[in-house]
Amino acid sequence: MANELQPARGTHDLIGEDQRRHQHVIDTARRVSATYGFDEWATPLFEDTRVFARTLGETSDVVMKEMYSFQDRGGDSITLRPEFTAGVCRALVSNGLTQSLPQKVFLAGPMFRYDRPQKGRYRQFHQIDIEVLGSAEPLADAEVIACGWEIITALGIAPHVVLELNTLGDQESRQAYRNALVGYFTEHQGALSQDSLARLDRNPMRILDSKDPGDRKLVADAPTITPYLTEAAAGFYDGVRRYLEQFGVPFRENPRIVRGLDYYGHTAFEFITTKLGAQDAVGGGGRYDGLVAEMGGPQVPAVGWALGVDRLALLLDEPPPAPAGVAVVPIGETEAKALEIVQTLRRAGIRAEIAYRGNLRRRMERANRIGARAAVIIGEDDIARGVAQVKDLRTGEQEAVALGDLATRLR
Ligand code: AMP
Repeated sequence: MANELQPARGTHDLIGEDQRRHQHVIDTARRVSATYGFDEWATPLFEDTRVFARTLGETSDVVMKEMYSFQDRGGDSITLRPEFTAGVCRALVSNGLTQSLPQKVFLAGPMFRYDRPQKGRYRQFHQIDIEVLGSAEPLADAEVIACGWEIITALGIAPHVVLELNTLGDQESRQAYRNALVGYFTEHQGALSQDSLARLDRNPMRILDSKDPGDRKLVADAPTITPYLTEAAAGFYDGVRRYLEQFGVPFRENPRIVRGLDYYGHTAFEFITTKLGAQDAVGGGGRYDGLVAEMGGPQVPAVGWALGVDRLALLLDEPPPAPAGVAVVPIGETEAKALEIVQTLRRAGIRAEIAYRGNLRRRMERANRIGARAAVIIGEDDIARGVAQVKDLRTGEQEAVALGDLATRLR
């Protein structure tokens, strides 16, 4: 055991193609969200436990079972972040930004949840996330969703992803709906799972996304929120749908989308795929108008989503290609000149390497092994003539190129 250390359960290394897939997802999201006017933030990987315990809702799975919480050496209770939103709201308040609204934020980084690991589900996983803080307009909801859809489209996976949309209404709608659900589930409580029975009093809406097969049968006939929406809540939802149509974002309404956390109201949505088996959610989000106030700030209406990078990376059809640079190969006493050339190429933005040792054959073998697209071969005669031999490693063609033209030629 001691000489065969493995990654901790539920964690995985990102190397080679895995890392390129991940990076491609994050780079794409960063680029697309910037075109929508989002600025990148980085918040800490761990926070005071209260940041999450207070806000995610005490009945949520994340808080009940999945948080990595511990006491640090000073006796403070610390939690590795299980999601971005609570930390972002905390940061908005701590940095005095509640006077500079709206804020449009993009984030990317690792998350930690004590989940049962399986394909597409890890204990350390990665999310990209956007939040609009300080807008109560349905246009903000639609724009946030449109940006997510645009990222999914840019990744080439839109054909495998469906956007499911719902409204959770305002507080008045939710209260009326809650009562209706309690009535319905109480009538059928004999058939409810233990978990759902526990939720019946505290958070009956969570029963709607129970995975228990018995619960799901009951849920199929449970009332939907639509008849309980106030006029204002129905109007808000109309607005979101209308703007989504204007943005050309396809969606499917699903009244069972409630999201796992307590802080959502009005818009709730998920991006679902049919390609990852049981782990079918690639992301989700919604509106959370009360969260900043719970962090001790003013009332700041907000909307956002998080997408799972690991799952998006699995969905990419074509992994991004390995980078192909050039290999500089000195022959004879030309190493000093070769080093000068390799540095010139690097400063010109070209990926250039020189093997640390070996004869011509060994160095050419190395060039092939690193997948170089070209070798720049430098012999003593070449230096005398002010040229290098550039060999295209795909076609095998070789020609002399003036040293001053190398960078332009190889770019
Ligand atoms: P959630 O905040 O739970 O809706 O998570 C948002 C997205 O993060 C999900 O749709 C997944 O794509 C991803 N995600 C959540 N938990 C995990 C996990 N344990 N492993 C991998 N990805 C996850």
